[in-house]
Amino acid sequence: MKTISSIEEMQFFSTESKHKNLSIAFVPTMGFLHEGHLSLIENAKKYADIVVVSIFVNSKQFAENEDFGSYPRDLKRDSELCEDKKVDILFIPEVDEMYPNDFSSTVKVSGIDNHLCGISRPDHFEGVTIVVAKLFNIVRPDTVIFGQKDYQQCLIVQKMIKDLNFPINLIISPIIREVDGLAKSSRNKYLNEDQRKQATSIYRSLCFAEKQMKEDLGDIDKIYKEITNLLKSNDAEIDYVEFKNAEDLSPFKHGNKHILLAIAVRFGTTRLIDNIIIEV
Ligand code: AMP
Repeated sequence: MKTISSIEEMQFFSTESKHKNLSIAFVPTMGFLHEGHLSLIENAKKYADIVVVSIFVNSKQFAENEDFGSYPRDLKRDSELCEDKKVDILFIPEVDEMYPNDFSSTVKVSGIDNHLCGISRPDHFEGVTIVVAKLFNIVRPDTVIFGQKDYQQCLIVQKMIKDLNFPINLIISPIIREVDGLAKSSRNKYLNEDQRKQATSIYRSLCFAEKQMKEDLGDIDKIYKEITNLLKSNDAEIDYVEFKNAEDLSPFKHGNKHILLAIAVRFGTTRLIDNIIIEV
């Protein structure tokens, strides 16, 4: 594995690879890698000759009151994990090179960003799209792998790829969970012992809803009530529990074939998200 931190060197490597007719699959991350990230890397290998993983804790997608400063970082361990996974290139750009003092551009994908996480984190997705657009221009991948865990992010990046004509194929990779169902997340480490147990109520809610929806599609309100009661009885502060059309995040309607149930909750100060796509 080669570690690159210079943008120019990364672009040079990608251009050389293209000249050699080698395809690139790219997994962007903020590091503190867990099995969710590693599954994306495994998936990436199926799509290309070369796998590039980036680690960059992107300040622009955190609001002032969020956890940018305390976001967990462990580059040494991340690098070992990537090495074990036989990643070809680990790209760890420097903040000053990504965002020099005179940096002034934005990329905004309107519409899909004004619900779910976009409501409680209004500038979040603009932070995501600017860094992803930059990384696309630097890494020049043929395929990118994103996790379904951040489903709204997947749809927004997909729309950006289409609107801005990036010649990139986006693959959505399934959610990897702990044995008790909690979705793996770098932020799980913030949970204390009680919160860690309570947090399993998120996955229990998703499974309950899926079962009910398959049996009794009519009564969404009842399912919603049961889920929110379950979450609240586990001391979760609800940001949202929403049923959406998974295709475009439009409001759920009977007849939708793929229904997204998305949940965002706080246990103490830790905000967790999860979702399920229910096929009916
Ligand atoms: P992050 O480092 O949190 O920005 O995540 C980097 C990528 O890993 C994103 O595409 C996430 O959706 C994906 N990811 C995070 N957690 C999981 C998980 N539990 N299972 C699968 N993918 C995940």
